[in-house]
Amino acid sequence: MDGTSASGKSTNAKLIAKTLDYVYVDTGAMYRTLAWYCLKQNVDVNNPKAVATACRKWKTLLICNDGDIKAVRLLVDNHYPEKEIRTKETAAAVPHVAAVPKVRDWMKKKQRECIQFGNLVMEGRDIGTNVFPETDFKFYLDAHLEERTKRRQADGVQEDLAARDQRDSQRAAAPLMIALGARIINNSGETPQQTSERIIGMVREIMTSARR
Ligand code: C5P
Repeated sequence: MDGTSASGKSTNAKLIAKTLDYVYVDTGAMYRTLAWYCLKQNVDVNNPKAVATACRKWKTLLICNDGDIKAVRLLVDNHYPEKEIRTKETAAAVPHVAAVPKVRDWMKKKQRECIQFGNLVMEGRDIGTNVFPETDFKFYLDAHLEERTKRRQADGVQEDLAARDQRDSQRAAAPLMIALGARIINNSGETPQQTSERIIGMVREIMTSARR
């Protein structure tokens, strides 16, 4: 599941993972974790070489957390920086870190390793185009900018979503784009319940047609 910022990827991916009893993977959280780590270590996020070196050296562990939903977490030095990665500072730093090709290679490898935990609902920016291009289940989520901005504000975060989307779409390495064969879901004016039911319906339809 790919899409623009605050397009409902996390909310819907979690609902779908819970309904299907699949494992939820938030790849944005993985990039945010690296951005947070760089800020904490005083690594200049505008220096791709320094960021690539930090990514090569950091001590991480991929685990599957068995809470209300099964979810993958990337631990750094055995810590999951749940709150720290949601700050405005981390949000501003993350597109810089995510544009570094060596970082993207590292993340892709880790994200593909998540298959060890079972069936996945994975959300991000390049899942259908780059991480799992072979999947038949590709979805691209979007909603009007005003609605997305309001959703972020409701989470207590004030940020320039259009600027982040622009940076994510214009970078050279695995930019945000609609994957070939992806179903486009504009969920403006819909509740997460409605959107997730719509997507689960499509998942079942694809499964049925694959069996024919
Ligand atoms: O989804 P979320 O807003 O948490 O993602 C944070 C940032 O991480 C994105 O704006 C993007 O720069 C980066 N990202 C990415 N590729 C992914 C997931 C996230 O480049 N698959």
